[in-house]
Amino acid sequence: MVAKGDMVYAWSTDAEILKKGELGGAVTALQKFALESKMVDAVLAVKKGYDIYDAKPVLIKDPAELADTAGSLHCGTLLVASPIKKYLNGSKDMKIGVTVKGCDMMALLELARRGSVNLDNITTIGLNCGGSVSPVTARKMIAEKFGVDPDDVRKEEIDKGQFIIEYGDEHKGIAMDELEDEGYGRRSNCRRCKYKVPRQADLACGNWGVIGPKAGKATFIEVCSDKGADLLNKAVAAGVVQTEAPIPKGIEIRGKIENAMLKLGEKWRKNDFKALSEDLWGTIEKGTSRCIKCYSCIENCPVCFTLADELKGDSRMITSGAVPPNPMFHMRRFAHISDTCINCGQCEELCPMDIPLALFSHAIRTESDTAFEPKLGEALYNNK
Ligand code: FAD
Ligand code: SF4
Ligand code: SF4
Ligand code: SF4
Repeated sequence: MVAKGDMVYAWSTDAEILKKGELGGAVTALQKFALESKMVDAVLAVKKGYDIYDAKPVLIKDPAELADTAGSLHCGTLLVASPIKKYLNGSKDMKIGVTVKGCDMMALLELARRGSVNLDNITTIGLNCGGSVSPVTARKMIAEKFGVDPDDVRKEEIDKGQFIIEYGDEHKGIAMDELEDEGYGRRSNCRRCKYKVPRQADLACGNWGVIGPKAGKATFIEVCSDKGADLLNKAVAAGVVQTEAPIPKGIEIRGKIENAMLKLGEKWRKNDFKALSEDLWGTIEKGTSRCIKCYSCIENCPVCFTLADELKGDSRMITSGAVPPNPMFHMRRFAHISDTCINCGQCEELCPMDIPLALFSHAIRTESDTAFEPKLGEALYNNK
């Protein structure tokens, strides 16, 4: 039996999930068990779409379909928290199990703080996250740096500081540092992210710290809440997941990797914010002058909001029809998210004009954090 605070290695006992799972398939097995045992009404997970660069969210009600969601898609830059608010009524009238990266968890916490989602109805299985790579960058990087046709790649992974691809009978890895020095690699918001182990989820799962015979075959789980402990205990009792105590050296290694990732995040923050501060207004003005006022940054931000009257063309603050819009269009948006931006990168990723929006928002939020509690990534809502 596990309790909040415990750590275990875990893996699925289902042959199909074990094979398809990223590291033993414990996450998929837990989601499947939660659905079968009616702890949740549905599971929101991520599944490969057209190819490995196409990650899509799926709401699953039939447990037999869960095996299709096994595996990690590192070019999956989507935010699964948003569909819960937009399409599932904030999980206010159904119980759902959700697999979350750190940014998904932070978005859910912000949305819960505003009453837009009901966290009591959501079971969160967190994934440690070193970062994700934009599909556009991934294709370019694989073609230009790896010298491989991106369409020939059947699997990608990020392991031991390398981006690794598998194609035909071969595999090739290049150090992330080298890739990032040359402008490839993880999204810029991910480089600055310091929410690596999502301990506000019910369970936090990842490969860091799994050593010895189970390396690559099991997931390290940190039990972060009573709800998480209950799910894991019931799944083990039902025989769908097996666990064993982690090797102490593995726990130590996990701590060291997490610390190294936090330091790297801090290094990128210093680097990016310093470059921005050299000409703050000039950089913002130059970037936003390319804006075509498509509203994507507002629509896809989990914490921003569009004003209905503005969409009808009656905004009291911004004149309609002007492209690029008056700079106040952006200033107002920055005000809306100044103390809530979670640095998820959605605004920047989906801006058709490639404006570094997350950099601006994250810099503003980081400044707010010097004055307010709780800081980004710290407890906002007690769901434990
Ligand atoms: P599986 O049973 O294979 O289940 C994987 C789950 O992840 C599924 O529910 C699937 O829907 C979901 N998923 C897949 N892609 C995404 C996505 N892009 N966004 C949201 N959900 C997704 N672990 C570490 O220890 N260190 C890391 O640096 C690290 N980085 C990661 C980066 C990304 C982008 C992702 C998705 C995962 C990362 N992980 C990391 C977690 C690790 O890869 C495994 O997902 C974890 O160990 C669980 O393994 P499993 O076999 O139990 O999962
Ligand atoms: Fe992972 Fe953080 Fe990037 Fe989200 S913002 S994908 S948690 S590194
Ligand atoms: Fe302007 Fe980009 Fe926002 Fe569209 S997504 S409104 S182009 S800043
Ligand atoms: Fe995410 Fe951008 Fe919104 Fe910040 S402003 S929460 S980075 S979409």
